Amino acid sequence: MTALEYDRSHIWHPYASLKDPPRARLADRGEGVEIVLADGRRLIDGVSSWWCVAHGHNHPAIVEAVRRQSERLCHVMFGGFTHEPAVELAQRIAAIAPDGLNRVFFADSGSISVEVAVKMAIQYQQAKGHPSRCKMVSLKGGYHGDTACAMALSDPDGMHVLFRGMMPQHHFVSKPEGGLAALPEWTAELERLADEHDGELAGMICEPVFQAANAMNFYPPEYLVEMRRICDERDLVLVFDEIAAGLWRTGPRWAHERAGVSPDVMCIGKALTGGHMTLAAAVASERIADAISNGDVGAFMHGPTYMANPLACAAANASLELFARHDYGAMARRIEGEFNESLPRLAVLPNVRDVRIMGAVGIVEVERLPSRDDMDRVIDETGVWLRPFANYIYAMPPLVSDPATIRRVSEALAAMAALPPGPEQTGDFHE
Ligand code: PLP
Repeated sequence: MTALEYDRSHIWHPYASLKDPPRARLADRGEGVEIVLADGRRLIDGVSSWWCVAHGHNHPAIVEAVRRQSERLCHVMFGGFTHEPAVELAQRIAAIAPDGLNRVFFADSGSISVEVAVKMAIQYQQAKGHPSRCKMVSLKGGYHGDTACAMALSDPDGMHVLFRGMMPQHHFVSKPEGGLAALPEWTAELERLADEHDGELAGMICEPVFQAANAMNFYPPEYLVEMRRICDERDLVLVFDEIAAGLWRTGPRWAHERAGVSPDVMCIGKALTGGHMTLAAAVASERIADAISNGDVGAFMHGPTYMANPLACAAANASLELFARHDYGAMARRIEGEFNESLPRLAVLPNVRDVRIMGAVGIVEVERLPSRDDMDRVIDETGVWLRPFANYIYAMPPLVSDPATIRRVSEALAAMAALPPGPEQTGDFHE
């Protein structure tokens, strides 16, 4: 049995069946913006391996940092120990986080950091004498991860619907729409909900400005200003999930910078290590952390086995050093400019509903995705890896991609957008 045959019959892939799994390609190594397959073919990673690989694959500085750390300390439990890579990383995160956010909880994935952020909101309310305040307000069209609490905060009619019965019930407002320029009329609904459920709400959570994995949707920054006001007036904890949009993906360092307001807790992940190790963090304000610490319990009640893994922290330190040394905002804006030159003309294609661009995110929304075979053919022919889902053919290439790479990515998007619609979808749920 070849590796691919064994994989096909024994190993689950994300949101895939084991009976008739979609094709998987055998990756051998990563080189810059490319994934090199075992048969030697190369694919430009047009989605930065789910939006992590901001600096390109196997960046020598990050690889070297992990190698050096591996010779000293690969892991040590964070209960009872700390280590230099974790301390350095907390300092680096505090230096780039919005003002006042400098209390860091290291989690092993984005989903877990969301769980942690929500637990912070609940423990904050308990510490303030409001034990019944344990529900969140979230936005339809959002995605916050695949663990139970994160699923419960994601679009209630989306990919997690199967698990509705076991999920905690939160409150949802309509998906904010209309792109960056639209007026934030949805905020009235937000305020109404906050009033209706006063006394049971701990906080609010959203993906600021860019709802990624569920809806590929941009919405006005003013929405966040209103969220901030509504939370302030009711002492609710405001959580911004910057896991997808943060670290210059949409242009600014944090997507919420467009709104000029800060959250109480921010989740970061994905590009934090530049796609080299799994690591995320929930970063809280001093105010939230102090309240939790001064509560009856005092301790913050979470502690995963691999918390603050030193190898992952070393990778993140090297990644944040790259972010500090180079102008990633300019890189994202340049990619935005290149997408703006090539993608809008796709809007006239018969299967295309809309084209949206923000920073290094280019989205072609289609009536129906082409057939999987057709899309695979485009990937093979163009040498560009894309992973369309639901109604979205999109690219989020490494931020370091040069103009020639972005041209090829745009051509691949165009080739896919020009394909005829495929059969009704059955399984492409996930980004
Ligand atoms: N939050 C957002 C905004 C995401 O886009 C994702 C993943 O796509 C997550 C949370 C979950 O992160 P992870 O897959 O690392 O658990």
